Amino acid sequence: MCIRVGKACGGSRQKIGVINGQEVFCSPTSFTQLDQNQQKDLAMIVKETVETQARVDDENTNPGYVLLSERPNNELYWKAVTTIVPLDEVQSLLKKHHACFEGYKNCRGLIGATAAICWEPDDRTFELIAYRPQQRWGSKRLVDSLSVQHMDADCPSAFDNYDVRNHHNRIVPNSPCPILYGIRGDDPESLVTASTLVKSEPMESWMLFETNQGTDDHLQKKSIIQVKPFESVIVQGSVVENPFTIQGGHVLFTLNDSTGTIPCAAYEPTKEFRQIIRGLSIGDLVEVYGGVREHPLTINLEKICVKHLTLMTEKIENPVCQKCGKHMKSKGTNQGYKCRNCRTTSTHPNLQQKPRSIRPGFYEVPICARRHLSKPLKRMAQQSTVAAIGTSDTP
Ligand SMILES: [Zn+2]
Repeated sequence: MCIRVGKACGGSRQKIGVINGQEVFCSPTSFTQLDQNQQKDLAMIVKETVETQARVDDENTNPGYVLLSERPNNELYWKAVTTIVPLDEVQSLLKKHHACFEGYKNCRGLIGATAAICWEPDDRTFELIAYRPQQRWGSKRLVDSLSVQHMDADCPSAFDNYDVRNHHNRIVPNSPCPILYGIRGDDPESLVTASTLVKSEPMESWMLFETNQGTDDHLQKKSIIQVKPFESVIVQGSVVENPFTIQGGHVLFTLNDSTGTIPCAAYEPTKEFRQIIRGLSIGDLVEVYGGVREHPLTINLEKICVKHLTLMTEKIENPVCQKCGKHMKSKGTNQGYKCRNCRTTSTHPNLQQKPRSIRPGFYEVPICARRHLSKPLKRMAQQSTVAAIGTSDTP
């Protein structure tokens, strides 16, 4: 997370939250830099906040803070969001820019903090986060799911908030953190309205954040030979092995391009999305979107664009003899057909086009299985980057 701090000097201001009853504003355009003393004071506040608030007892919490007076270019953001960045690379960047910084435990929090500063939004979304009073931290959250469902339906610019089919209320976190809920959407003002529609226990504070959630920033177009573990990729290819279901309900198929082959997986938690994947067949042309698992090297599907469906045929009957007008008889498996009357032979039965269960277009995993960075098809459609969107309800 990154906060830009300066002294407001007039101009327009925008309400972005309320903390303990006090309104919080930001001045997006006009502010001046802090002087050296103010920078020192700010560094003290940040240090004290991290050291008193961070849950360093959690093995996955490795905090870090960074203060920079100039924003470096966005190179590090893109590197951090798409691949794994070595810590020493970040530390040398920070030293080069004379940053004030400190890392704790394995110090990898410095990477996220620096990347957040370096982010210059290309695409971006917003999240309104509501916070609980401290005495409620860790207790069960009271957020009415039905009101969340209605809110999501009534706010066209909100996304990924409620999974109707799987009855999953995604705005509420599972961890014992201070967050009551987070509503995601494209329009900050609508999010403020949206939060008034959610029936919940009282919140202590709320704040709007600009985020890279739902932007697909993590994805890189690659050929199969370039695919590396822990990255997230977009790969186009043909289906070379029909989908099959393994124990646990996971569905896999094999994708091929001119550089190689790779398995693609729709895991059990992706629910109805697996039915789309099961509808694929050898020869179909698809573009897959997903994170790469290391062992075995596999693309975990987040989205798929079915570009072209191969024509599938099925046998409807034995061929008819041209002379006698009667059906021929099979000579045995793969041995062709023969007319009983005149002994005319044929190699091919009568075929008909087999109906396909899916259509060309985009398909995505349900909200309950979606990664934070994955761009929902709803956003893609609003940005008009999608010509056809399929859903598992209307194949
Ligand atoms: Zn015949």
